[in-house]
Amino acid sequence: MLAGVVAALARRAGSLSASGQWAAFGTGTIAAAAGWRWAGLLIGYFVLASALTRWGAGRKAARTADVLPDASARGALQVLANGGLFAALVLAGTLLRAPPLLVAANGALAAAAADTWATEIGTLWGGTPRSLLSGRALGAGESGGVTLVGTAASAVAAALMGGAAGLLLAAPGGVAADAAFAVGLAGLVGSAADSLLGATLQSKRWCEQCKRWTERRVHTCQYRTRHARGVRWMTNDTVNLLATACGALAAVLAAA
Ligand SMILES: [Zn+2]
Repeated sequence: MLAGVVAALARRAGSLSASGQWAAFGTGTIAAAAGWRWAGLLIGYFVLASALTRWGAGRKAARTADVLPDASARGALQVLANGGLFAALVLAGTLLRAPPLLVAANGALAAAAADTWATEIGTLWGGTPRSLLSGRALGAGESGGVTLVGTAASAVAAALMGGAAGLLLAAPGGVAADAAFAVGLAGLVGSAADSLLGATLQSKRWCEQCKRWTERRVHTCQYRTRHARGVRWMTNDTVNLLATACGALAAVLAAA
């Protein structure tokens, strides 16, 4: 019921599309089945991410309209790419009584949080992004670009998620310092993986009319774009999912 209410409120606020509402309901229900603390953590992540997305939304849309499709409301694929692995891993970790799976789950969500914060705050305040690989200047919103402000924001998100994991994974009254460190590190690794995949394998489309890179199938000039770089099926959602998997793996390795 809690998952249903949160998802419905988010839909009403325009943060989720209809498909996104169902995906959030499913993801939240699975997290709650694993335990209230995990549902709480997921809701905390989601509310902060949605608030950051709305912050300066008009200014961000104006900066990235050329590159990114309109997507203020998150769809099902976007919700699952960010929270799906977390929900699956907390449920598996709880049912199997396997603490490493819970650490992995927290690492996955930390990666999603760090990437979301970097994107939303970096697009707003970060100025011109540069390619993580070549250092060349990119258009705002172009995948694989990083800014100093965005990277700092991802570090703050990673630290927050690490702190939360340290409290939630500890024995009552204590703090699990190892888990906090591992999850914080996982956030940074996942965010870096996202930028690296975005700069290399992610599908990029080319508008012949404007001579610009974009993720839009039909560009803002109404010209149909063509797939021109990266792997065709490697969309932004696929990259996000792989980045959370990198975060999960990094957390387990760091905690071991
Ligand atoms: Zn164009």
